[in-house]
Amino acid sequence: MKFTLSCSLGLVSLICASNTVAAPLTRRTPVTLQVLNDSVDQKLGCSTTQIETLEGALTDAKNVAAGAATTLGAANVLSSEGVQTFLGSITAAQLAAQIPIRFTSVGTGLSGTLTQITDLVAGNSDQTLRFYCPAETTTEAEGNPCSAQSDAVAENLAEGSINKIALCPNFFGGGSITSDKASYLVSKAAGKLTSFNAPRNPGHILIHEAQHSVPLLGGSAANILEDISADAKPTSCVALNKKKRALNAENWALVSFLAEVDAGRLAAPCTGTSAKRAVGACALPSSSTSAAKTTTTAVVPPKTATPVAPPPSAVTAKPPPVAVPKPAAPAKPPTAPKPASTSKPSLIKGLLGKIF
Ligand SMILES: [Zn+2]
Repeated sequence: MKFTLSCSLGLVSLICASNTVAAPLTRRTPVTLQVLNDSVDQKLGCSTTQIETLEGALTDAKNVAAGAATTLGAANVLSSEGVQTFLGSITAAQLAAQIPIRFTSVGTGLSGTLTQITDLVAGNSDQTLRFYCPAETTTEAEGNPCSAQSDAVAENLAEGSINKIALCPNFFGGGSITSDKASYLVSKAAGKLTSFNAPRNPGHILIHEAQHSVPLLGGSAANILEDISADAKPTSCVALNKKKRALNAENWALVSFLAEVDAGRLAAPCTGTSAKRAVGACALPSSSTSAAKTTTTAVVPPKTATPVAPPPSAVTAKPPPVAVPKPAAPAKPPTAPKPASTSKPSLIKGLLGKIF
């Protein structure tokens, strides 16, 4: 199964990134962003309205990614409830090494000017990322990789395709950061810190897909993450073994979502310094917050965490030795889809919305 192969490669990618220094973690060359319009190709092209939605999503994704990089770059963030919950047993050094890839590089890559093209394939390069919008009536044979549940599907030149992200009809479902935040706050008020609704805004979907996209991950296929949770619901992402959470694309997207809508969950726990508490530089126990009063599912009690200083340079930090073991069995999600075509190598299909 191509997906299985791709998934397995993705699973070891973080490990590879941790073991080797051969692959560049970041690339200075900017990413060229292009979108296929529907002036010529009406089966795969995006309408003017869809392009406007994409532009808004790019802006949102860029801002959220930048915010996440800043929030997660704070001292002692590893001991925050949010990181412990969604990134599990990641180490301080691993987190410091991943932030420039998962958020800084992604945010920079998505901030380029979006230009329109009329041919999806011609002229693609390793520094180019192309968006397209397969119509619901476009068949798989005609180039539509979306399933009914897909939000988007990413493929890479480094894996035998071209660097492109299909924006499926669900991508244009109308969600926004505002609506996702409102939904999240309702859930939080009910104590559902890990069972809130999966964010639906297009910017969030782009940050998720970016974790599969080589040009957005500094140009290295070793940085690709796969979808290893049963689906993209927060409950499923948190249900992963603690050692696997940082290997799942959606877990990183969810951390960026928290940074945007509830950054307090990513603040280091208070250790008794009233000055810090006064300025909100640390996170008080959840019982004292106004929203989540009772049954939170926080993974780690704040006071037990031991602050760990991040490496001096996150960008150049050499990743630490393997701390994230390779899964014992081939990671074959029970609902893993068949590749769109047997002639296509290693498709990486976004699981967002695929299963649920
Ligand atoms: Zn995905």
